[in-house]
Amino acid sequence: MKYDLIVIGSGPGGYISAIRAAQLGSKVAIIEKYSTLGGTCLNVGCIPSKALLDSSHHYYDAVHHFEEHGISVEKPTFDFSKMVGRKASVVEQTTGGIKYLMDKNNIEVYEGLGSFEDATHVKITKTDGSSEVIEGTNIIIATGSKPSSLPFITIDKERIITSTEALKLKEVPKHLLVIGGGVIGLELGSVYKRLGANVTVIEYAPTITPTMDKDVSKELTKVLKKQGVKFNVSHGVTSVERNGDEVIVKATNKKGEEVTFNGDYCLVAVGRRPYTDGLALEKAGVKVSERGQVEVNDHLQTNVSTIYAIGDVVKGAMLAHKAEEEGVVVAEYLAGQKPHIDYNLIPGIVYTWPEVAAVGKTEQELKDAGIEYKAGKFSMRALGRSRASGDLDGFVKVLADKTTDEVLGVHIVGARAADLIMEMAVAMEFRASAEDIARICHGHPTYSEAIKEAAKAAWDGKPLNA
Ligand SMILES: Cc1cc2nc3c(=O)[nH]c(=O)nc-3n(C[C@H](O)[C@H](O)[C@H](O)COP(=O)(O)OP(=O)(O)OC[C@H]3O[C@@H](n4cnc5c(N)ncnc54)[C@H](O)[C@@H]3O)c2cc1C
Repeated sequence: MKYDLIVIGSGPGGYISAIRAAQLGSKVAIIEKYSTLGGTCLNVGCIPSKALLDSSHHYYDAVHHFEEHGISVEKPTFDFSKMVGRKASVVEQTTGGIKYLMDKNNIEVYEGLGSFEDATHVKITKTDGSSEVIEGTNIIIATGSKPSSLPFITIDKERIITSTEALKLKEVPKHLLVIGGGVIGLELGSVYKRLGANVTVIEYAPTITPTMDKDVSKELTKVLKKQGVKFNVSHGVTSVERNGDEVIVKATNKKGEEVTFNGDYCLVAVGRRPYTDGLALEKAGVKVSERGQVEVNDHLQTNVSTIYAIGDVVKGAMLAHKAEEEGVVVAEYLAGQKPHIDYNLIPGIVYTWPEVAAVGKTEQELKDAGIEYKAGKFSMRALGRSRASGDLDGFVKVLADKTTDEVLGVHIVGARAADLIMEMAVAMEFRASAEDIARICHGHPTYSEAIKEAAKAAWDGKPLNA
């Protein structure tokens, strides 16, 4: 069979590029090695983690916050297997939705491992060992990523686990040790903390969420500590051993002392690595960087002109929405259009509660780049909306150019930050000034008023409600 485009991998990068190419008139095939479509994001990433975060959030509220709203319930309990079952059905519905979209757009779905024969041919090897070769004028590599580990850790998938196993445990850990204070570690740590586990985070860097704005890391540490999560930053893990049902993690702290942590589960959440295993890239001559990422130019084209790569398998943030944008860009570029992505305006979100969301530059990045800026900050606590809901933690910080007042970065810790951030991503795409935002009428009472106030604080230093 011959196609205009073959996409290898059906995650958010792959399936979106397939749809966009089909919309633009191409004959498209997509290859997925697993029996369900949707990749990491839908099967073992964004969607299942948010399902468990939402369920655990409801339980946590029932235990800790219903009373203050005047609601009394008998001691709330939960059925963990039902919670995990609900998550599985959310995943099933969502991945089923992708299958529907493939059919609707006349995209041929091949189940099996895709591997290159040459620059235009891909072999599909099915689980029964049979194979077939299909031809594509162009091919997109969208094979995503897998959890990475440390060289001395053996992931046994029972007690020493990655995020994949953490999403389908049979019980709530008594004491979950989390190696890595990044997004995945904090989100899954939050799930189990809310369900009653002791959670200890061990982070190598001096702060959690080390790539985010320092004020954000500080506030998030404060609120998660309040929820009972224990943090050990500046701790370099040196060994992870299992002894029966116990996991022992040893780490070296800032003073060079050895510290031992004991738990019954250890989640290794130290990042993800680009995944190209089994692709036989060498047969097509596609180059990979030292970090294992498929090398691409500004059009996401590899060194082989017929082959493109997108999403987690290439450089940049490992985020579903980044993968999707890249998928659209390649499909449109191949159709002769001139698409573009502003990598500076890809929002970063942590779905803890309160949520964390950011877009644009951090203060540190502006300092490093020698850009003079003004900062305006507004506390969520000062909002009527926050007092009504009881979600008082967090702030909005707006960073604007000192001379032009253009908004350069926005950092939010607060209820619904994940949705709030998009106002500022849109504004920044249109190169709004802090004054522009401050002068736009925001609905009252909403959390978004904190954005208006922080923008006013950045613009003229005079927020109205503080
Ligand atoms: C626990 C967790 C939570 C996350 N939460 C979020 C979130 O809230 N928001 C967010 O933006 N991101 C989140 N992410 C990250 C997000 O899942 C990834 O950035 C996103 O899935 C990357 O998309 P992709 O299309 O590049 O690759 P993937 O989603 O990894 O998909 C790649 C697909 O390619 C298939 N494949 C690989 N090799 C082959 C081959 N040779 N032949 C055929 N098929 C192959 C794989 O089986 C897979 O289905 C989370 C990740 C994890 C682990």
